[in-house]
Amino acid sequence: MTGYVALTFDDGPDPAGTAALLAALRAGGARATLFAIGRNARSHPRLLRRARNAGMWIGNHSWSHPDLTRLTPARTRAELRRTQAVLGRLNGTAPRLFRPPYGETGDAVRSIAAGLGLTEVLWDVDSRDWAGADADEIVAAAERLTDGQVILMHERYPATIAAVPRILAALRTRNLRPGRIDEATGRAVAGE
Ligand SMILES: [Zn+2]
Repeated sequence: MTGYVALTFDDGPDPAGTAALLAALRAGGARATLFAIGRNARSHPRLLRRARNAGMWIGNHSWSHPDLTRLTPARTRAELRRTQAVLGRLNGTAPRLFRPPYGETGDAVRSIAAGLGLTEVLWDVDSRDWAGADADEIVAAAERLTDGQVILMHERYPATIAAVPRILAALRTRNLRPGRIDEATGRAVAGE
């Protein structure tokens, strides 16, 4: 097999996780997509810029991480718009990718996102780091990735950070490279 996969890390920027994550990715020569929470970016602008400067792609993960399917359309739009504004300011360009918190979405959420120029991206493989998976389990989850696929991880878990070098090494042996997510298809492609 040969191709590209997308490593994604949600819920940052995070003072306990972002710096270590960036170091692990840099050590492996890898780039990833970080789905940032708007209010976290506002609280930790330097971490967001640092991720951008390290070559990471930044996506919109809402302002306050609600289940968007339970909000009115106006509140959902505000969650995404406010996040576009802060990420656009810090990143230099507004995100084109959006991941709904908890993966909870529907036609209304997708159409509001599309109206803001955002493509919704879920995942093919869930690392389950959020459910307490250890590094071995996270590495094993990444072993299931095939060409074009996307894996869900998070910035704040030590087990995830510990897994990153092993995931990168394992991908290399399978001729899979960490790439970006294509805005048209939501699939992993060569980074640029
Ligand atoms: Zn999240």
